[in-house]
Amino acid sequence: MTHEIPSENPAAAPAPRHRSIGVRVGEGKGSVIVGGQAPIVVQSMTNTDTADVASTTAQCAALARAGSEIVRITVDRAEAAAAVPRIKDNLLAMGVHAPIVGDFHYNGHTLLKDYPDCAKALDKYRINPGNVGFKDKKDQQFSAIVEQAILHGKSVRIGANWGSLDQELLTGMMDQNARSARPLDARAITREALVRSAIWSAERAEEIGLSRDRIILSAKVSAVQDLIAVYRMLAARTDHALHLGLTEAGMGSKGIVASSAAMGVLLQDGIGDTIRVSLTPEPGGDRTQEVLVAQELLQTMGFRTFVPQVAACPGCGRTTSTVFQELARDIQTYLRDEMPGWKARYPGVENLNVAVMGCIVNGPGESKHADIGISLPGTGETPIAPVFVDGKKVATLRGAGIADEFKAMVSSYIEQRFGRAGDGD
Ligand code: SF4
Repeated sequence: MTHEIPSENPAAAPAPRHRSIGVRVGEGKGSVIVGGQAPIVVQSMTNTDTADVASTTAQCAALARAGSEIVRITVDRAEAAAAVPRIKDNLLAMGVHAPIVGDFHYNGHTLLKDYPDCAKALDKYRINPGNVGFKDKKDQQFSAIVEQAILHGKSVRIGANWGSLDQELLTGMMDQNARSARPLDARAITREALVRSAIWSAERAEEIGLSRDRIILSAKVSAVQDLIAVYRMLAARTDHALHLGLTEAGMGSKGIVASSAAMGVLLQDGIGDTIRVSLTPEPGGDRTQEVLVAQELLQTMGFRTFVPQVAACPGCGRTTSTVFQELARDIQTYLRDEMPGWKARYPGVENLNVAVMGCIVNGPGESKHADIGISLPGTGETPIAPVFVDGKKVATLRGAGIADEFKAMVSSYIEQRFGRAGDGD
């Protein structure tokens, strides 16, 4: 029996990116372009009280240093608005240039007018069209925020949200649907209302005078299938840059899986110019986890590279000691910790592939495929660990110092391959 290789293998590549207008967020160093085929931008949001200047500054800096290219903060009251310029100044003094976005609900029109230094210090304003005001105040207050953006030369995100959807719009559409000969189900109407809320608000902002290259759209929901449907509708109807995220994704593995499943499908469809992973941290947990998950999602799908990839086997009955897990964790942490320095000294280092394998079954094979890999001894195997560099076995490590010796070998490989001396390759 022969197994012929098909003449045409199915393509395994994402769809071309949704055509969107690029929006510059921020000025000078640290400014980023969202959309217009620029690399997909990672962003995050603080969970500190913005009026607490010290803790908000510290968290913005931590998020930016973890790789968040835009950081959003809540601006919910006068004390928060007054704190914004100080937070921005502190960040600049610390060398943190990531654009800072103000998240406004209900009173943004007042805060931006009463605190012009806040309006100037922020790099972008987020407007939620569902709670910018009600009845005849809605347009007036929405217009006031847009006018502030025009006055200060800022971009905005018009961010509709399933949980705070414009109730007048939704009720009107539900009534109309009820009167139609073939009414759709309520969920379909809600999705349509969310998309219309975002698109109509963007049209209104343009009428007021905000240029198209200052407007980013989002329409977030908390259910995976709804998010996929809503963003496919948005991408089909608008060329505005799209901010993608599953709202209220949840804690831990649930939040990570739901966000990755929803955003993975959309990114593969070419939809999404900037992403945020809305994880609920554990009490006292590290807020920067949402940044790492966003980076890992983009890197694992091949859209961007941030840190060297570590391929580690899952372990099984052949790895009964914890040596293997400890080394895999150690290497991962070591690479992430060293990256800021390496990135400056060793251009391209983020493309490195490292393998940490648990036994002889797949260890040598997988390690040979990596740039540098180690195959640890499984249970019952001779306690030695061969190391492979560029597919060739170069050393055999043994004893208690395996982890440190392997880290030193990774470091020296990086220096040789990505250091200035290697530039002539
Ligand atoms: S490489 Fe070895 S230890 Fe790792 S999962 Fe495979 S058989 Fe188990």
